[in-house]
Amino acid sequence: METALWHPFSDMAVVREHEFVVDRGEDVWVYDTSGNRYLDATASLWYANVGHGRQEIADAAAGQMRRLAGYSTFGDFANEPARELAARLAGIAPVPGAKVFLTTGGGEAIDTAVKIARRYHDARGESGRVHVISRAQSYHGTNGIGTGVAGIDANRTGFGELLPSSSRVQYDSVDALREEILRVGAENVAAFLFEPVIGAGGVLPPPEGYVRGVIDVCREFGVLAIADAVICGFGRLGTWFGVERWDAEPDLITFAKGVTSGYLPLGGVVAHERVAEPFWGRPGNTLRHGATYAGHPACCAAALANLGILEREGLVERGRTMEGVLADALAPLAAHPLVAEVRAGVGLLGAVELTAAVLERVPTAIGDLASLVRQRGVLVRTLGRAVAVSPPLTVRAEHLQEIEGALTAGLDELS
Ligand code: PLP
Repeated sequence: METALWHPFSDMAVVREHEFVVDRGEDVWVYDTSGNRYLDATASLWYANVGHGRQEIADAAAGQMRRLAGYSTFGDFANEPARELAARLAGIAPVPGAKVFLTTGGGEAIDTAVKIARRYHDARGESGRVHVISRAQSYHGTNGIGTGVAGIDANRTGFGELLPSSSRVQYDSVDALREEILRVGAENVAAFLFEPVIGAGGVLPPPEGYVRGVIDVCREFGVLAIADAVICGFGRLGTWFGVERWDAEPDLITFAKGVTSGYLPLGGVVAHERVAEPFWGRPGNTLRHGATYAGHPACCAAALANLGILEREGLVERGRTMEGVLADALAPLAAHPLVAEVRAGVGLLGAVELTAAVLERVPTAIGDLASLVRQRGVLVRTLGRAVAVSPPLTVRAEHLQEIEGALTAGLDELS
């Protein structure tokens, strides 16, 4: 039956009569409405970090909803789950004196972080600092600023210019950032926005020294470094916010996804005490920004339960211990004639990129591969020229073998 549901990032002319309806989930598995079981090799959109079907999170959210479903946190209003979540995140964030601004997702967190950066400079008498630099291939959500600044060109096309004061630099070069700051003029640059490991742009780990290098360049020119940890946080890179892996201290960190493992929508921004100071230390300097559901108590209760599971089950560390197992499992695919490259080894995420030859011969090859793999009971995600793998942190070695087996079989059939 034709659907009325307009799917994000989807060709509705095709999808309108071909929906894949997911019904329920249990750990690394999800089931469709016919009861068929699939291995969720992508943790939905990189977020089901604790796996599916955790009653503990559902109970925490339901309990909070019965007590107080929602209430504003504008002005002096607060609720205990939001206060507790902010304190907990500030305690584990890799920046001193962290303050936490809560949002309803990652894209809103990006727009919040950039607005904080611009207002920070403005409050310090540098109102010319509005330009935002990001990396080619980066993805920063679909709100206005995140769409306008990010580096996957196709996602910006056709919307007009959403963030005129922005530019993108080569994704793997610290020098490229320095040159761009000099070209634009440091006095005009507010922030540099970067994913520690680029996700949607193809799973691109940073070169050696990159993360520390770009933060050092930002410091040198008074530019705020915003680490987008929306994918990389909460165990995906084996640490709470991803960047600790490189011993890096950004000025702002955006997060979402794994903070609730997707049980309810929530995101936010962690601000270094230095960035928060003009707002927290000076009466009258209000950040006039924030959404209706900022600090929503039921979402915060879900996040707290999720953080409890991540901690109790050692899942953050497991992201690190399993990264090599994932890399080993995917490695044989590199020898397949249709495969150009396998990228894995930094965190529990990877990508298998097809050769230019097959993509030229069969322009739908990536989608076809994902379908063939799905027919074998494994869900992978299409990312441009590659398919991505980013399973729940509870994944076991035998599941990773199953993912590799399904990909090999799918590639063989595509050949
Ligand atoms: N930033 C990154 C790195 C992301 O991968 C995403 C979503 O995939 C976002 C931001 C946007 O998050 P959301 O979809 O929750 O708005």
